[in-house]
Amino acid sequence: MSIKINHLTHIYNSGTAFEKKALDDVSLEIRKGEFVGLIGHTGSGKSTLIQHLNGIIPPTQGEILLDGENIHKDKAKLKEVRRRIGLAFQYPEYQLFEMTVYKDVAFGPTNMQLPKEEIHANVVSALETVGIAPELYEKSPFELSGGQKRRVAIAGVLAMNPEVLILDEPTAGLDPKGRDEILQAIKRLHEERGITVILVSHSMEDVAKLVDRIIVMHDGKIAMLGTPKEVFCHVKDLESMGLAAPQVSYVFTALKEKGYEVPLDVYTVEEA
Ligand code: ADP
Repeated sequence: MSIKINHLTHIYNSGTAFEKKALDDVSLEIRKGEFVGLIGHTGSGKSTLIQHLNGIIPPTQGEILLDGENIHKDKAKLKEVRRRIGLAFQYPEYQLFEMTVYKDVAFGPTNMQLPKEEIHANVVSALETVGIAPELYEKSPFELSGGQKRRVAIAGVLAMNPEVLILDEPTAGLDPKGRDEILQAIKRLHEERGITVILVSHSMEDVAKLVDRIIVMHDGKIAMLGTPKEVFCHVKDLESMGLAAPQVSYVFTALKEKGYEVPLDVYTVEEA
């Protein structure tokens, strides 16, 4: 499934003193099976953009096409879109509420009224993918660590078998161990399931490790788009967008390990 965004603009509180253009003429195509990183400073429009992709927010102008069809064509299309495109919000663990891990992950597929065996298969497979062991299935989600809770919440989205998974800041607020576990789980689910993944992050480290292509948002627009190698070479531009990462040296080490050639002047910037 391909996603095409044509000239998407979104204005919040239009016509009031609080009017804010959060997206400004954004056009973009995301191909099937791609792993895309969406980065940008707070307020650059990342959340607004992804909420358009599964139809939660309607465009002020422009359109979103799924396999060539407008997602707001009719109610049936919108329902289909929400099933095929899974969205894990920021801090998704706040939405855990069932008595057990298993029941929580089964909530979505149960609501879809799938046959029992299919629900079971989906739940087990989703929990396996995110690395939650069977001995935790009957525990209360509230007994788990922060990283485990978040992985259970992500499994809840995965259990719906989406073709596209959008993750909004999935490592926010986690300790390094929880963070690594989540990133490993995301890597695995992309590799094993071959689904399209859109990872929203303000962490250069996270995206550098994982994605095929990076979209940099700034002030409601796409400021840069390319492979990690292409994007991270523009250190000064990134800095001017508030993405000056103290982690820059980490990023370049990671790039070097992957065999990318990093221009010499980049090292000079890094060491300055
Ligand atoms: P990001 O995810 O990159 O932090 P957002 O999409 O959340 O960016 O926000 C983009 C801009 O839109 C910001 O200026 C933000 O304050 C504004 N904004 C976001 N959500 C709303 C809302 N519900 N009502 C009004 N303004 C909003």
